[in-house]
Order: sequence, then C-alpha cells, then structure tokens
Amino acid sequence: MSQIYVPGKAANEYSRYAVNLYTGCNHGCKYCYAPAANRKKREDYFTVIPTKDTLKHIERDAHHYKGENVLLCFLTDPYNSLDTQLQLTRQAIKALRDNGVNPVILSKAGALSTRDFDLLDSSSWYGSTLTFVNDEDSMEWEPFAALPEERMAVLKEAHERGINTWVSLEPVIIPEQTFELIHLTHGFVDHYKVGKWNHDQRANSTDWKKFHSDAKTIMKKYGIKQVMEPKFEKGFYVKSDLIKECLRVEND
Ligand code: SF4
Repeated sequence: MSQIYVPGKAANEYSRYAVNLYTGCNHGCKYCYAPAANRKKREDYFTVIPTKDTLKHIERDAHHYKGENVLLCFLTDPYNSLDTQLQLTRQAIKALRDNGVNPVILSKAGALSTRDFDLLDSSSWYGSTLTFVNDEDSMEWEPFAALPEERMAVLKEAHERGINTWVSLEPVIIPEQTFELIHLTHGFVDHYKVGKWNHDQRANSTDWKKFHSDAKTIMKKYGIKQVMEPKFEKGFYVKSDLIKECLRVEND
C-alpha cells in the first residue's frame, strides 16, 4: 500500500484514511499484526524498506483529501530506524499540510518523533500506543520501542505545543496497567481509542465486560466524554471489537 488508502474495518475505526511510508518495523512488538498483514514472517519484518513512490503519490493525490485526516502509519512506525536517515515522514507531513490535509501520527518511537513537531499544530494529531506502565513488561512485549514513560513525556510535550494528542489503548494485555495509563495521561491526552486484545488465546482469560465497565468509570471520573463515532475529537471511543465481546458475553 504505497498510496493514501481506506483501511479495513478494524483500522478504519482509527482513521478513514492512512498511508504507509515503509514496510517493516524495528520495534519488534510481539503483538504486531503487520507481518501477517504483509504475509511476512515475524522475524523478516525487522527489515525496514520504503514503500515504492509513496511520497510521489502523496504529492500527487493529497489535494483529493483536503480537510481529511490521514494516519501515518498502520504497518510501520513512521519514526522507524530508517526514517532517521530518509526523513520520508517529514516530507510526507509537509506534502499533506501543503494540501490542507491533517496528519495523524501514530508512533512508539518516543523522543525521535518530536523532530517533526514544528510541522504540526492544532489541526494535527500526535498519538502513541500505550500498553504498559511497567518497563519490564514493555521491554518483553515491545523490545525496541521507547519505554512508556518516554512515550508519555512526548505526548505531554505535543500537548504543550498545541498539537492534539491521542492514545491507542490496544492491545490491552494487562487491564490494570491500561487503567493506570489513563490515570497518568488524562491531563494531556485529548482522545483515547479503547480496544481489547485480539488474535491471542491468552486474551480469553480477561473479563472484557468488566474491563469495559471499569474503563468507562475511570474516563467518567476524569470528565472524559464518550464519543460514539470513530472520529478524532475530544473524548474516548470504544472500539467495536470490545463492544461486540461485551454483547456476546451478555447473550451467552
Ligand atoms: S510499532 Fe507498530 S508496526 Fe512496529 S512492530 Fe510495533 S505494532 Fe508493529
């Protein structure tokens, strides 16, 4: 997928449009779905390669998406090790902004992603996936991503610079840590996507109905409203996988 595209159903709840500047990712997250989506072995997905002509496609097509949000990236981290040299992400953000398109960044690279904050403002979104509070768990599951504290510090910095901030709370591997992440970030995060843990048998041991209810209670405690449409706006959005699982349990 070297062009701006409409993501499949689950990813579409994150963004109507997305673009992948690279395939491969050096963060090595154990829960990553990108190798399967690219029909690659997990061990082969470490090699980062620029997707062909993506920047050219963005420069050519971005005007069709004026006023829309475009997410960078679902199948890699836009601030992966190769982008440090190539800076395709910076060029893509510039091309999107030049055409009135709002970039939505999703990165676990921590401080590396502040490089392009000068290009972002209140029409842009900067986000990170937060899975763990505990460094040991993060190192076990996301061995080469920035540690949780660094990711949170970068979100705070984005917020202080007037950039909209968002967090993907998915996968939820240890619900208590997800709750703690909400406690730690609610002061500087504008939008949360709350999901579950998919494609792993171990997720069956979590009481998802209770998780859903407890997460909503915590959001309510902090005055964070639930938004029902999967748009980027102030509040939290519960992903349909989690809602479906709660309904399934209720109907059992
Ligand atoms: S940061 Fe995203 S794309 Fe990269 S390995 Fe982790 S889950 Fe996969």
